Amino acid sequence: CGIIGYAGHRPAVPVLVEGLRRLEYRGYDSAGVAFIENREMHILRAEGKLSSLENKIAGSSHHMATTGIGHTRWATHGVPVERNAHPHRDNSGRLALIHNGIIENYQEQKSWLAGLGYTFSSETDTEVLVNLVAEGRKHTQTLMEALSWALARVEGAYAVALLSIDEPNTIYAARQSSPLVFGRGVGENFVASDIPAFLPYTREVVFLEDGEMVKLDPSGWQVFDAKTLAPIEKELNHITWDV
Ligand code: GLU
Repeated sequence: CGIIGYAGHRPAVPVLVEGLRRLEYRGYDSAGVAFIENREMHILRAEGKLSSLENKIAGSSHHMATTGIGHTRWATHGVPVERNAHPHRDNSGRLALIHNGIIENYQEQKSWLAGLGYTFSSETDTEVLVNLVAEGRKHTQTLMEALSWALARVEGAYAVALLSIDEPNTIYAARQSSPLVFGRGVGENFVASDIPAFLPYTREVVFLEDGEMVKLDPSGWQVFDAKTLAPIEKELNHITWDV
């Protein structure tokens, strides 16, 4: 399983698929991408190999988007079929989220959201989290605060990346007990489960720690404490090895 996020100047979808291919060694049963085009969230997902996803992408109109997120899934909650594949969207359709790991208290959060009127089209813990972010939007001022609000309510292990129509060139990502690295390019930035995903584009990386969140867009990035949203200064590492 793996995640990748790209915010830059290239067409995002090929960068995402290529990145997912470089994360294939981690194993997966389905895959998907999300990107924003014409102010609409587009999500393409497929059961099975990346080639199935690529066939869907080839048959769709896309590809002006220069920001997006991609995921390979190793199912833990819900069978490996398309409706459970990531990215997952919230009820409003404004948010798309990818997630590696397990949300331990998702059932409790799901019941609470259901009581508020939220509906679910998958069996995943992840769809609960993206709707928690949507609920967080009602209790906070900014998208970043909404993600922090949602993460404070979940227990478990995760690496997540969030894309929203409200900030179409920005990706927010965070981790707790699952790997996540940031890659700094020139006019483009990356986030992924592992360095090989973006190594063709940059060798400048930041290793994120548990409890950290990174905000990236094509021209900038900043790491924050996911709880307090206090900025954290991080060291860039230069990668000398090749895959
Ligand atoms: N728990 C999530 C799911 O079952 C994420 C699995 C993963 O790590 O890929 O969809």
